[in-house]
Amino acid sequence: MNVKELVDTTRPDDGPLALYCGKCGSVYSLKAGLQMREYAEKCCLPKRCPGCDKDTGFSGLCHDCHDAKRFEVATKVPASEYTGWVAVGDDYFDSVASLIERRQDEDAPLPKYVWGTTETTWDGLDVESALENELENSFEDAIDHVTDMDELRAFVKAWNEKQSITSYWCDYKTAVILDEA
Ligand SMILES: [Zn+2]
Ligand SMILES: [Zn+2]
Repeated sequence: MNVKELVDTTRPDDGPLALYCGKCGSVYSLKAGLQMREYAEKCCLPKRCPGCDKDTGFSGLCHDCHDAKRFEVATKVPASEYTGWVAVGDDYFDSVASLIERRQDEDAPLPKYVWGTTETTWDGLDVESALENELENSFEDAIDHVTDMDELRAFVKAWNEKQSITSYWCDYKTAVILDEA
């Protein structure tokens, strides 16, 4: 933006050595190639979303355009046919009904669609890696000298089976359509 040229006044015949942005003063060395002129010209220009031309301050698609693009290619499932957790921005709900209820409580409008989720379940404690971690500061192969590994394995196996930690992750491949909900 407002590009100025830097010339070595003792060797003016060499032409400009570098450019700088008249707004922020960032220097673009012409030694680094001719595209530097383009970079200098673009420096400090407002950065806009190529999708909707909104001034975002960063290059690339804005959040809304990014979402719209994902929506385009996602599998669309009517809310009536979807069961399970859904994701809206950073919020997760255990069902579409819970989401609707919450929005009604808050008197907030419903989105046209929300994202489905995938789930991962914690497998529990891994005895070997836990022990390796614990014995990090012991001699090499100390793990082979642990007394009664079988007892520990059996205990942890039974304990692992009691665990029920399930995590839900936004699944951008599945859009749940709320229009008719
Ligand atoms: Zn600049
Ligand atoms: Zn956009």
